[in-house]
Amino acid sequence: MSNTNLPAEVSRILTGLGVSADALSGGSLAVTSPVDGSTIAKLKVISADDASRSIDAGHAAFLQWRLVPAPKRGELVRLLGEELRAHKDDLGRLVSIEVGKITSEGLGEVQEMIDICDFAVGLSRQLYGLTIATERGEHRMMETWHPLGVTGIISAFNFPVAVWCWNAALALVCGNAVVWKPSEKTPVTALATQAIFEKAVRRYVAAGGVAPDNLSTVLIGERAIGEVLVDHPKVPLVSATGSTVMGRAVGPRLAARFARAILELGGNNAAIVGPTADLDLTLRGVAFAAMGTAGQRCTSLRRLFVHDSVYDTLVPRLIKAYGSVTIGNPLEAGTLVGPLIDARAYQGMQKALEAAKAAGGTVHGGMRVREELGDDAFYVRPALVEMSDQTGPVKEETFAPILYVMRYSDFDTALALNNDVPQGLSSSIFTNDLREAEAFVSDRGSDCGIANVNIGPSGAEIGGAFGGEKETGGGRESGSDAWKAYMRRATNTVNFGRSLPLAQGVKFDV
Ligand code: NAD
Repeated sequence: MSNTNLPAEVSRILTGLGVSADALSGGSLAVTSPVDGSTIAKLKVISADDASRSIDAGHAAFLQWRLVPAPKRGELVRLLGEELRAHKDDLGRLVSIEVGKITSEGLGEVQEMIDICDFAVGLSRQLYGLTIATERGEHRMMETWHPLGVTGIISAFNFPVAVWCWNAALALVCGNAVVWKPSEKTPVTALATQAIFEKAVRRYVAAGGVAPDNLSTVLIGERAIGEVLVDHPKVPLVSATGSTVMGRAVGPRLAARFARAILELGGNNAAIVGPTADLDLTLRGVAFAAMGTAGQRCTSLRRLFVHDSVYDTLVPRLIKAYGSVTIGNPLEAGTLVGPLIDARAYQGMQKALEAAKAAGGTVHGGMRVREELGDDAFYVRPALVEMSDQTGPVKEETFAPILYVMRYSDFDTALALNNDVPQGLSSSIFTNDLREAEAFVSDRGSDCGIANVNIGPSGAEIGGAFGGEKETGGGRESGSDAWKAYMRRATNTVNFGRSLPLAQGVKFDV
């Protein structure tokens, strides 16, 4: 399987979706597959001026799309969901090739897109406002929600397509156009997604639906193109997913022009294993959350606090699982851990492990393996590092499979350590003690946007709002009432009487 011709396969899938073969070659952006390090495409990069013009065109599309009734907008998203179902295998395979996710995770990412489309279709018949009691007779006060404008989407390499859909499905039913700057490491899956979207638009229009041109646009480019999106005055909302470094650059720029931001940034997620935990369940939960996706999820488990009374039972079992997990070509059945995205990720991992050793940590695993799969393919054995304290690299997010394991004896101390990092995305407790479980999810518990009991911190269902606190950026997307960020709220007061009573009893008779 490692001899598969990945560039040819990528070309076959994309042209099958309707992307012209010319779009995949001759450009300056070389895209490599982490599976074997081969170059799978050379894409053309858009200029800043053209990017700006595309955003203007997106704004023109918005002006029309906002007039289409929301349930009819939902019909387009329903068709997008159908097209994604029809092309799930191809798109999932592309995700595996471009990012190195194992097959079930590549397909799972596309399923997440389908799920959010279903959610958004239902939402398109809701988008509820309120009617509010008013102090004035023969008046009605209400709250209404209206389309906002172009929604800018900046996405990270590790969820190359689902993040677009989490945002786009909601933005579209809310009446917005979308302009997407995908990661420069994963633009090929973005082209495929756009082609699938265009198929849905064609079906929608053929059935009599009204969809303006440029409702969804992809801008292929690096950071500078993301900056065009961030600075463009016709983009009232940017949803940006990526590192905290990116968020620190993007957040103030958006604030400077009073645009809205949904920031979905780095995590440093912990789990507490209490004395009553079901250790078989814990072992599986920890192993998937920490080693799955080669530790390259924003919600990957990176810190584990294990109670003294179970440490010597659980940790040796975990070390054994780390030593035996199947690492290799993610396209092959049976592989559980695929490659890191690139050499830089590998170097970052080695640097963190050196720092952990210097801070007194005992490192199990972490070395490069499967070098026969390609000089430029970086496979590693996931690392488990026993630490005596939460110090040095433990407080940072290293985007690689490193799990720092620490002992604790007192629940409140473990809870304090869970919260004592700059990031605040996801967290878990493994326990059968009701008091510990409830305390963990209570006001005095985990300070993260996601707090789970008896499941690991990684992954999420689309029904809940997704996002985190502190350096994770504070944004929420996907389910619950996250849609409200994509609309503008108006408060309306209607006087259906013949007098003009002023609020707060003010008299102003002229
Ligand atoms: P990254 O920050 O390097 O890049 C993310 C995107 O931001 C890319 O499209 C990049 O071109 C763009 N970008 C970078 N600087 C920019 C700037 N100044 N202006 C505009 N655009 C800019 O992140 P990455 O390496 O692709 O992804 C990994 C990171 O993303 C990790 O930190 C991970 O935790 C985080 N992440 C967070 C979530 C979440 O929902 N919280 C989800 C996925 C990934």
